[in-house]
Amino acid sequence: MTSPPTSGDDMAPGHRGFVRKRTTWLFLVFSMLYVAVAGRLVYLQVLQHDYFASRAAAIRFREIAISASRGSICDRYGRPLAVNIETASVFANRREMSDPSRTAIRVAALLDKEPSIIEEKLSGGRNFVWLGRQIDARIGDEVWKNRTRLPGIGIQRDTKRVYPAGSLAAQVVGFTNIDNGGAEGIESVSNSLLSGIDGKYRAELDSHRRVIPETRHVIREPEDGKDVYLTIDTTIQHIAEQALAKMAGTYSPSSACAVVLDPATGEILALANYPTYDPNNVRKTRPPLWRNRAVADLYEPGSTLKMVTASAALNEGISPRSILAHCTGCEKMKGGRIRCTLHRPYLDGHGGVDMFRMIEQSCNIAAAHVALRLGSKKLYKYEKAFGLLDRPDTGFGCEAVGYIESPDKWRPIRLANIGFGQGLAVTPLQMASVYATIANGGVRVEPKIVREVRNSDGSIYKAFTPGKKTRVISEEAARMAVKLLKSCVDSGTGKAARIDGRTVAGKTGSAQIAKTNGRGYEPGAYIASFMGFAPASSPRLAIAVVVNRPKGSHWGATVAGPVFQEIGEKALWYLKVPSDAPSNHEIKQKREEDLKRMAQLPLSNFLTF
Ligand SMILES: [Zn+2]
Repeated sequence: MTSPPTSGDDMAPGHRGFVRKRTTWLFLVFSMLYVAVAGRLVYLQVLQHDYFASRAAAIRFREIAISASRGSICDRYGRPLAVNIETASVFANRREMSDPSRTAIRVAALLDKEPSIIEEKLSGGRNFVWLGRQIDARIGDEVWKNRTRLPGIGIQRDTKRVYPAGSLAAQVVGFTNIDNGGAEGIESVSNSLLSGIDGKYRAELDSHRRVIPETRHVIREPEDGKDVYLTIDTTIQHIAEQALAKMAGTYSPSSACAVVLDPATGEILALANYPTYDPNNVRKTRPPLWRNRAVADLYEPGSTLKMVTASAALNEGISPRSILAHCTGCEKMKGGRIRCTLHRPYLDGHGGVDMFRMIEQSCNIAAAHVALRLGSKKLYKYEKAFGLLDRPDTGFGCEAVGYIESPDKWRPIRLANIGFGQGLAVTPLQMASVYATIANGGVRVEPKIVREVRNSDGSIYKAFTPGKKTRVISEEAARMAVKLLKSCVDSGTGKAARIDGRTVAGKTGSAQIAKTNGRGYEPGAYIASFMGFAPASSPRLAIAVVVNRPKGSHWGATVAGPVFQEIGEKALWYLKVPSDAPSNHEIKQKREEDLKRMAQLPLSNFLTF
């Protein structure tokens, strides 16, 4: 019997060679595999160590933002206009919910909502859903207390912006969006100052990817936003808004605005727009109401601009008592015809007009002659110096720039029209600044809306500095310009703006509204305005009132004059500005005393032969 071969020695030489070759190949293959695995391990564990370690940490840890508290917006005395209140936002995490329908019913009861609304939100296909944002913090507390009965429901402490003064200065203050970012007004322009810098904490997550509270570790503390103090005085703002609303009750304008400036510092003490809105209920309002028209909208100023022409003339040495023109109500000149609006006793024209009568009676023909005498380049130079043609640096961020054609293109009729306020477009704030400049002895102070900025601890971040100062006309010219404006209120078209016990300087304006295609004017559409300052002897307030498309009357004196008067009277009383003229009561009393004294005199005193 022969047994099967058991060792290589018994193999045939060819077969032995085959086995050796195969073994070598296997060894090589395994070696290569080993090298590949070892290489991969080195790659993963050494070269990619940081990457995988950070990925593992990212799964295990989470970095969560700590919201910085948004700064407040206040008036000049720190009275709040925009502040934060604590709220809560409720969210759902679908992955953690075992019975969404039952949870929806429970959470709906706490949020005072229909369960169907909650269920609809949950069935949207997304894992993370907000169920209620910026709701009452007490409701948030209730949800938190019931959290064991509400798997998958969480709350986030949040803040909500509220406007304690309601609609007061709404177009100035603006409002924020749902994420507490500035959307309009100062909220938007000063957003980077107000919002602050969010902090950050790091925490470990449990198997359900929920934060383990004990593992919280603050990486960076939040830096709260800064508080922005406006130049606005809420009392004067309220007075201005009330005066506009009262006028609107009678004349139903499409819009109106009033600006009150401190002539010495350029500070905007009030800036009121009508109609207005409540920033606490923005969703119920329309975007046109949010517009700060006093700053963002251009209009043709009409007769109120005659004071720029008159100031330029005074500064260039034209005597206020020299006769500038003989007005017959209408004058033909090269390129067209100019007219005056005539009232009693000037139905046949204003006659021989000096600068006093030009302002008192608002004579277009005299203003046209002054403009022609000055020439286009000089008039343009003064319009620019009064700040009408440059972008104002007021701090609103939405300022419109006054528009006028280059003076090289002005034909004589154009120059004449510009002299009495037609053919250029400016903003109400720019016109208020013209009158503030005259009130301030000819020195223009750039208007400002932000007074100072404070850190959250109350320390000053940016202190108050008055706006840029530029001398526009000489002190002497300004003094005479004040006299012109005072006589306009005392004995001219501005009588409606008189304030009891105060001297007042001011000018009316009644301008037709130019068609949007630039050809002519809209029939029956006017802008009524009144601008000036008080007390004329030592001006404290410059006030501009502009009323767009009033119904029933279009005269600046009738529509805007009383608004000016009401703001001036109440604001000067509030500021405790001493009276600088006898009151109506005193004048009446003196007249009665004079009459009594005369009655006691012997008759012979009155008889003359
Ligand atoms: Zn005239």
